Amino acid sequence: MSSRASLVERFRDRLPLGPETPIVTLGEGDTPLLPAPRLSARLDLDVWLKCEGANPTGSFKDRGMTVALSKALEEGRRAVVCASTGNTAASAAAYAARAGLPALVLQPAGAVALGKLAQARALGARVLEVRGSFDQALAAARQLTERGTHVLVNSLNPYRLEGQKTAAFEILEELGAPPAVLALPYGGGGNTRAYVMGFEEAGAGLPRVVAVESSLRAETAASAIRISAPVHAPEVAQALERTGGLIAKVSDEVLLEAWRALAQDEGIFCEPASAAGVAGLAQAQLPSGTRVVCVITGHGLKDPEAVERLTPPPVAVDPDPDAIAAVA
Ligand SMILES: *Cc1c(COP(=O)(O)O)cnc(C)c1O
Repeated sequence: MSSRASLVERFRDRLPLGPETPIVTLGEGDTPLLPAPRLSARLDLDVWLKCEGANPTGSFKDRGMTVALSKALEEGRRAVVCASTGNTAASAAAYAARAGLPALVLQPAGAVALGKLAQARALGARVLEVRGSFDQALAAARQLTERGTHVLVNSLNPYRLEGQKTAAFEILEELGAPPAVLALPYGGGGNTRAYVMGFEEAGAGLPRVVAVESSLRAETAASAIRISAPVHAPEVAQALERTGGLIAKVSDEVLLEAWRALAQDEGIFCEPASAAGVAGLAQAQLPSGTRVVCVITGHGLKDPEAVERLTPPPVAVDPDPDAIAAVA
């Protein structure tokens, strides 16, 4: 066993894994929970960041994929399929490779960030560009699984949510109690459900959950939450009700400002969608000093093109100290 236990090893008794289940792991979970002093001062809150970009493929999807692929092997499945805006595909490709199973990825044509596409291809997935939206690609993936050849590893696969709930366990371990508020991006809603499930199972009380979606769902610059019809919408609504939470809607402008602040004020470079939790806090109108955990869902290197919106390009300069000092 490695010195760094995977989440499956740490939380095995709280996951649907038997003693015989073959475990497919890349060392996911155990991600940093960091205080955010400058954001806290600016927002007059006690803000913490759960940095899920530190997972093996750079997003929280890995927490679910380790369980989904372990169960696929246990159940004798021969191949996996997903529809994806990118991170599910990167994660499915990695864990399928690790399990020795083929992965089929259906992605909306022209709508996947460069880093994620590079991952799925490099990791050996069969990548197909569907002429249509994410929602159409997901419908096609679900229909394909009815033929029995592939198991679906989107968040409709219940094992995905089981794995993802472990992030709530880690937050409880580190803070000793649930935060007053948990804020996270709301794309399809699987992760929102998974966190509420995790806190409910732990039995230590629930944070108010603020699920933050784009006010432009179908065309936001944040490709990871560019989903017009969230598949988990009814369950998200129920889960939020149990926590006294809410859905916040943010414009791309507000989202990109939160993204810039995370990067330049806190040193956390995430992809644009991952800043949604921070971006939605203003709408929750929280009392001064409220403890908030924002889930930073994916790494900034996933979407290098988005950086063009964040900063001007580098200035060219001769290798001369005077010239450098003049523009520095
Ligand atoms: C998948 C994903 C989301 C959205 O999560 P849902 O479970 O679909 O709500 C948000 N951010 C990133 C980086 C993602 O990969």
